[in-house]
Parts: sequence; C-alpha cells; structure tokens
Amino acid sequence: MVDPLPASPRSQLPRVVVLGGGPAGLGAAWQLALQKKARVTLIEQNAWFGGNAGSFEWEGQSLDFGSHRLHPACEPKILADLKRLLGPELLDRPRHGRIRMLGRFIHFPLKPLDLLLRLDPRFGLGMAWDGATKRFRRAAPGEPDTFASVLRQNLGPTMCERFYFPYARKLWGREPSELSGIQARKRVSAGTVLKLLRKVLNAVPGLKKPGSGRFWYPRGGYGQLSDALARAATLAGAEFLIEHRVKLLEPPAGHLPWRIWVDRGGREHVLEADHVWSTLPISLIPRLLKSEPSEAIAAAAARTRYRAMLLIYLRLPVEQFTEYDAHYFPEAEITITRLSEPKNYSDRRLPKGATTLCAELPCEAGDRLWKSTDAELGELVAADLARAGIPLPAPATAVKVMRLPQAYPIYPNGYEAPLAELDRFADALPNFLTYGRQGLFAHDNTHHALAMAYAAVDCLQGHDFDRAAWARHRDVFATHVVED
Ligand SMILES: Cc1cc2nc3c(=O)[nH]c(=O)nc-3n(C[C@H](O)[C@H](O)[C@H](O)COP(=O)(O)OP(=O)(O)OC[C@H]3O[C@@H](n4cnc5c(N)ncnc54)[C@H](O)[C@@H]3O)c2cc1C
Repeated sequence: MVDPLPASPRSQLPRVVVLGGGPAGLGAAWQLALQKKARVTLIEQNAWFGGNAGSFEWEGQSLDFGSHRLHPACEPKILADLKRLLGPELLDRPRHGRIRMLGRFIHFPLKPLDLLLRLDPRFGLGMAWDGATKRFRRAAPGEPDTFASVLRQNLGPTMCERFYFPYARKLWGREPSELSGIQARKRVSAGTVLKLLRKVLNAVPGLKKPGSGRFWYPRGGYGQLSDALARAATLAGAEFLIEHRVKLLEPPAGHLPWRIWVDRGGREHVLEADHVWSTLPISLIPRLLKSEPSEAIAAAAARTRYRAMLLIYLRLPVEQFTEYDAHYFPEAEITITRLSEPKNYSDRRLPKGATTLCAELPCEAGDRLWKSTDAELGELVAADLARAGIPLPAPATAVKVMRLPQAYPIYPNGYEAPLAELDRFADALPNFLTYGRQGLFAHDNTHHALAMAYAAVDCLQGHDFDRAAWARHRDVFATHVVED
C-alpha cells in the first residue's frame, strides 16, 4: 500500500521522514514540527519511544535499559527545553555509586576522603608513582596509537592494568592494544592524571563545578524524557508510526521522492519523503537500500561493528538492596560491568517491599551469553554479586532479560577507514542524513544525540539542507566526550 501523501511543491513545507524514535529522532521531529520547518513522520520499530534511552514496565515498575542519567553537561538551551517539557518531574539528584577496585569499594564520583580511607594503599602508591614518573614515560618508537598506548602514556600502568584494561576487555570484547586510541580519547573522560585529579577535587566544597556530583532524572524513569519529546512533537503536528520497522529505502529518481517501505506485523506500507533523516545504525543503511551495495560498501558495513548488551533484571523481595544507585565492576573476576538499582534513581521509592536490580553484561549478539536463558543469566548475576562481596539478600522472585543489539560502537584499530567509506556513501545519497549515536557511530550520551538533532534542524533551510553548516556541526560533535 502506498501512502497517498500529497506532492510537495517548493512553496510547501518539505516532507521529512525520521527513522528511529530514540532521543535523536524525537528531538528532530519535535523541533522540525515546532519551528514549522517540515511536515514530519517518525518511524519507530518498538512499541515504546526512547531507543536505548527508553524505559519499560515490568512487575509494576518503570525500568531503564541499564543505568541512565541526564548529565549536567547538557547544552543549556536543550536542558531548558527539557525542563520546560517535564516541569517538576525532572529531578536534580545526587550521584551515589561505588566502584570495586582490588576487592574494595570506593565512592563514585570519587571523593578525596573516601579515597584516602578506602583505596587499597598499593593502588594509591602505584598511582602516585605513575604520576611522578609521567614525564619519563615515552611511547616506544613506532608504537601505534591504541587505547592501551594512549592510556598507559597518560595514566601509567597502575590505573591501566587494574581499571581501564580489564574494563575495556569486558565493554568491547577486545584487547586494549587492539582498540584505537580514539576509543580512549572519546570514552575516558579522566584520561590524564590531571583530569583525574580535577575530578577528585570536584567533590571538595568551594572547588566544585556547578552540577558536579549530580544528575537530572525524570521521576517516572529515564524514558519519560523521550515520552515528553514525543508528546510535544505530536502537539506540534509531527506524526508517528510506532511498531513499524523500516525494511527498504528507495532513493529519489528524477522527480520521484524517497520511498520508504515499512513493515508492521507482516503488513507492508510505503511512505514518500523529500528528506530522510536516519538515526538507525549506519552499517544497516547499505542493506536497507533497494539497490545491492558494492562489495566495498558491504565490506565496510561488515567492519563497522557494535557491541551488544544483555540487561538482566532481578526482582528481590526486599525494600532496598543497597543505598547506592550503581556499582561499577571493572575487574575481570566479575563478569558484569555495572549493577544499578533503579529504585534509587528517582525520589518515588517505588515499589514498596520489593526492589529490582539491573545488571549490564556486554557481549556479542548471537554468542553463548546472548543465547543463555533468563534463569542462567540470573544465576550468573547472583554468583557475580556473591564474589563481589555483596550477595543477594534473598533469591530473586523473578528474572527478566532485555537484549540490546547495538549498545556500544566498537573502535578497533583501523576502524576509521571503513567508517569513512560508509559516511561518504551515506553523504552521497540525495537529501539523506545519518545522525544520532548509531547513525554517526559515536559513543555519545543522550544530550549529545539531542544536540545533533537540534543542529540538523538548524541546517534545514526551506527545502535545502545546508551541508557546509552540517560539516561544521560535525567538527563540534567530534569533540564530544562521554560522561559516565
Ligand atoms: C547501557 C547504556 C547506558 C547508557 N547510559 C547513559 C547515561 O547514563 N546517560 C546518557 O546520556 N546516555 C547514556 N547512554 C547512551 C544513550 O542511551 C544514547 O545516547 C541514546 O539512546 C542515543 O539516542 P539515539 O536516538 O541516537 O539512538 P537510539 O537510542 O539507539 O535510537 C535509535 C532508534 O532507532 C530504532 N530503530 C532501529 N532500527 C530500526 C528500524 N529498522 N526501523 C525502525 N526503527 C528502528 C530503534 O528501535 C531505536 O529506538 C547509555 C547507553 C547504554 C547502552
């Protein structure tokens, strides 16, 4: 069935179809409709909004896809918009987490006194030595720029061997020497001893940066941000097709517009658009296009890989597991990377008499872990927590597993060439834009994805998309560093 959308003469607003209903897609749909720049339709495969930053209901509780917070680094204009949309529902919350290092728990964000009291002295002395000897550390001649070499040079062996290297193996499933130096620069916000010190000093009254040690969180769950954006976009006139999967994209030919095939429960449907703005994984685009991709493009897509993640939820029959919002597990002896207790993120303190834990376990889509049963993964988490010294106080009354096929972009050495090839390919498609975390293969936070959406809307001038302005915005996006 072809959607009989009216033709779009130059005098009318352009028709933009946005692919994906995560923050990047929703932010653009809202701003395009609000600023009356386009007639917008957004297509989302899930029954909910927010993508990886969404929420879902389980056992009467709203749960996020792993630990999610809105960081105070959010651009002031975007934060002001979100505050306006959510009003008092957007809570300003203190961060209260812990990292397990050498079998001990230290507070995260780091605090000077806590570090002094709890950090294993071997770690502290090692760090002090590494800091004092930094100027004598030189990269070996010809040593490649890798995650390992960048961090070893900047932070020294103690922090690398005890923290970042085992963490990297778990997060991205690769040896630190196999990962590009860019992964360290983008992903490690405390990438030098000086930056690390600054983070510790941030906890000292008088030296604190505004917002430091705090985060924004919607009272009803992180997905409330996306729901609010979707509601505002609807009010502004945007249309949504949820539970519709994009199956095929046919670029414009002659006077014909873009044609987008979507599938809903086996029933196909075609939409037409002047512009297609995609927040889908960039590696998916060549496969979605009607014409067969060249071998080079297919190979570039195959080399542009995302790390998957299992989110293992355990329902416990106790009021609270711990007072902490999240526990971080960089060490190899613990399989999961992070454990959050969603109840501690909001001030709602719901449900009464029970709590849910969410364990994050990165893996490859389709591997042994990915195919494990919910019960097996529940046992894995229970065993991990016992080993970490924080055993479950009672057996879980229910276990649920959610699977994210695209959790983190992986930057192995040399990833830039295939990514640049895909980028040029997407750029050459007429009136086509790829953006957002998956679309630009960026390790970005929600506020970065929203910044991309706002920038894209700025670039649409009448019927034309200002490519030069977009290139300037992309230079800014390249400076984004992930907040933990
Ligand atoms: C475990 C984890 C923890 C995180 N914690 C934080 C945090 O604390 N703070 C923070 O700011 N950020 C955090 N992030 C990052 C945050 O989730 C992302 O920045 C955000 O989701 C990016 O939004 P996006 O719209 O670019 O992409 P996504 O959220 O990935 O949205 C893409 C959308 O496209 C849809 N889609 C894909 N294929 C199709 C198709 N064929 N048809 C139709 N729809 C399709 C998907 O269903 C999805 O809704 C975290 C991410 C993960 C994985």
